[in-house]
Amino acid sequence: MMATGTHKSTSKDTLRQVLARLEREGAGLGHFNVADHVLLKAVVAAAADTKLPVLIGASEGEREFFGVRQLTALVKSEREESDLPIFLNADHTHSLAKAIEAAKAGFDAVTIDFSGLPFEENVARTKETVQAIKAINPAILAEGEIGDIGTGSEIKETAQGGQLSTPEEARQFVEATGIDNLAPAVGNMHGMLKSMVQGKAKKHLDLERIAQIKQAAGVFLTLHGGSGTDDEHFRKAIAAGINIIHINTELRVAWRESLDKSLARDSNEVVPYKILRPVVDSVKQVVRARLRLFQSVSSDAVGTVA
Ligand SMILES: [Zn+2]
Repeated sequence: MMATGTHKSTSKDTLRQVLARLEREGAGLGHFNVADHVLLKAVVAAAADTKLPVLIGASEGEREFFGVRQLTALVKSEREESDLPIFLNADHTHSLAKAIEAAKAGFDAVTIDFSGLPFEENVARTKETVQAIKAINPAILAEGEIGDIGTGSEIKETAQGGQLSTPEEARQFVEATGIDNLAPAVGNMHGMLKSMVQGKAKKHLDLERIAQIKQAAGVFLTLHGGSGTDDEHFRKAIAAGINIIHINTELRVAWRESLDKSLARDSNEVVPYKILRPVVDSVKQVVRARLRLFQSVSSDAVGTVA
């Protein structure tokens, strides 16, 4: 197992610099969604434990619940206090207005998602959004999406998505939109099947397709819907050109299971921080294992905790 993390990043590094360094080292950046302060504390604690860079994500729904400016302020304060490279991404942003709101609030990156529209329309609206957010912050990282990988980081009955992205549409999309990183459909899927939550099944990625798309697109690549993916496939996907990996459902499952357990422990317990502390710890363990896997720090420390 290759040991990385020899060149530590600090809070002064930009997201682009961290991604470029990780790519040189053959490593990937973990992206973890947060919807509340418990999840945020868990992700930050995992970053502090491992001293590894981390990308915190919040979708439109998560941002609405947390507060766009409130989340930005908390992440900024964590970053300053810890001196760790902690970044913030506006995940799955479906309108120009929401992308502008996130850029103005100080997000480091925006996942522009018009992938539900026909290709030409996706190109036009993504391009318009890239220009708008870069006018607000030229250093912001703009991500675009092509293909169908389903929606919602939830537990599902049946698999969603299907059609894989082609290298040719990846190349066209990047050239026409000016995005910095591309999220293609390469066998990944949002959410997890019940069998995956139980650990009986794993997602498998089309590694050859990832390599072809990387070659054609020539930009950073993001893998959405990483929860439940086979560990070895993650390592190979990073080697094939994936730079950012999104994990959400695994955190939500850990959050729910540990909250159930914590509440069941004592029905008279009403002190929130006593109930929630074990939840932070459970989610932290999931994040820590994924961070270490993506950055190959120590093979024996790697493993899914869910
Ligand atoms: Zn996603």
